[in-house]
Amino acid sequence: MATNSQRLTRVQRKRLEEFIAPFRVKPGSKVTLAKDFDPSFKEGIKKKEGVELLKLGVQLLTEYQARLAAQDTWGVLVVLQALDAAGKDGTIRHVMSGVNPQGVSVHSFKVPSAEELDHDFLWRYVRRLPGRGEIGIFNRSHYEEVLVVRVHPELLDRQKLPAKAKKRDIWKRRYREINDWERHLTDNGFRIVKVFLNLSKEEQRIRFLRRLDLPDHNWKFSHADVNERDCWDDYQKAFSEMLLHTSTDWAPWYVIPADRKWFGRIGAASVLVHTLMEIDPRFPVVGHEQREALREAKRTLEEQAPKGAAADPFEQAQRADGAPKPALGDGHPPVVAPVAAEGGTAEREK
Ligand code: AMP
Ligand code: MG
Repeated sequence: MATNSQRLTRVQRKRLEEFIAPFRVKPGSKVTLAKDFDPSFKEGIKKKEGVELLKLGVQLLTEYQARLAAQDTWGVLVVLQALDAAGKDGTIRHVMSGVNPQGVSVHSFKVPSAEELDHDFLWRYVRRLPGRGEIGIFNRSHYEEVLVVRVHPELLDRQKLPAKAKKRDIWKRRYREINDWERHLTDNGFRIVKVFLNLSKEEQRIRFLRRLDLPDHNWKFSHADVNERDCWDDYQKAFSEMLLHTSTDWAPWYVIPADRKWFGRIGAASVLVHTLMEIDPRFPVVGHEQREALREAKRTLEEQAPKGAAADPFEQAQRADGAPKPALGDGHPPVVAPVAAEGGTAEREK
């Protein structure tokens, strides 16, 4: 049976590319968030269509993640940044709803601990990186080191840096160090998907009020959130600078409109699906020698059948269901069918 991602035609791939293109921050381009990106943009999509699109995105992610894990060569790091109430948690919940929990890790970064402050600023992020075959999600990330720490200089004081490392060029240096680190990861098989959920000040006000008005949501509200809101303009500036300096060819930023939660989720899912589509992970194909070994193992197991039992009950049941002769027959097909190449199975099946 062809799977969803096998059925992604060239046209659909192109549409996905076109959909995310306006959100991509061109490396080196100057960004003024408020002017360049509209938080309420929805690209002519209605909510109902959006919900269907998200369902498709989740199915695609499920399929891609299985292949990514099976191939065990590439890892994917999703970096999620936003101001409070922009929908980071909901995005993770919805976008990752179909994936196998064994292949995914999520880490939420809070105020650094004493142990973390005793190390260089990237240390705690390195420790949470995904392995090959995994998707790791950073809910807040190393970018807090040029956002909250920049907006609140007292946080930098707590980092116990030598005076020389705290000079005025510290932010430019951190951008460079982050870029270098991300390049190192990319060069070694870890793709980085950077999503900034872009929320308007008015929508944040409404979402905060909702948290206050609904008793079940009170726990989500913190007074610190209101204090951070007072620094809105400083944050907008810090985000704009971050986008200018750290959107790179190897790890570009995507600014996703987030005033509509459902749109933010589709946007984030699309960027992730697009990266996985580029990686195009494949199920491993079993080689000739390995297939011989499998055939030998099959023979041994069949010989161990108790008296009266079928040599291979599974094969027998499959035959009864009308399935074709299984993979270890004369034709030496792979145990797991390789994924169709561009325009492969999907086109031929028509
Ligand atoms: P939340 O994501 O709402 O649970 O809040 C986590 C808090 O931790 C936010 O207020 C962040 O600004 C703060 N935080 C995250 N990373 C850092 C960091 N590197 N330095 C200081 N505060 C941070
Ligand atoms: Mg919070």
